[in-house]
Amino acid sequence: MLQYPEPIAKLIDSYMKLPGIGEKTATRLAFFTLDMPQDDVDDFAQNLHDAKTKLHFCSICGNITDQDPCVICSDPTRDQSRILVVEQPKDIMALERMNEYHGLYHVLHGVLSPTTGKGPEDINIKSLLTRLQQHAEVKEVIIATNATPEGESTAMYLARLIKPAGIKVTRLAYGLAVGSDIEYADAMTLIKAVEGRQEM
Ligand SMILES: [Zn+2]
Repeated sequence: MLQYPEPIAKLIDSYMKLPGIGEKTATRLAFFTLDMPQDDVDDFAQNLHDAKTKLHFCSICGNITDQDPCVICSDPTRDQSRILVVEQPKDIMALERMNEYHGLYHVLHGVLSPTTGKGPEDINIKSLLTRLQQHAEVKEVIIATNATPEGESTAMYLARLIKPAGIKVTRLAYGLAVGSDIEYADAMTLIKAVEGRQEM
């Protein structure tokens, strides 16, 4: 059987590591890459490398960033009295795109999940509580975990922890269907969800 030369076989293997890419698509992408201009391929390789080596998590909010603190945490014009809690950095991008919310964020990097054994110490909760202790100017925590059973129970858990400190805890008003993710919501749905948030 004819084998591909090693460099292209390796490239096919690399593409197959991406989600949703099978051998057929990986082979097509590998041959497409061979046809790309050298400059584009060099940029591609460099971008892959930079994205992995230059980005890290903001030490304050957990957002993905190439500077620490991130641009949002280091922006004094943001409303320092509100922290909006999301599951993933991608959710911040979705909320920022609508340009309606001007407070701060906190990224949990997951949700509590009995099925996968994820407990409070496995997600970014402790740093949120430390933030609230250190910054008395925070008057409201808006919980924007997804409308899934895990997202709901994580919201309840956080509300129980935070409310005794006298901080208002609200939850996004989901016109979103149950089980839907923030990152896929359209801008109008998100604006309504933030505007219509309800106290927990
Ligand atoms: Zn930050």
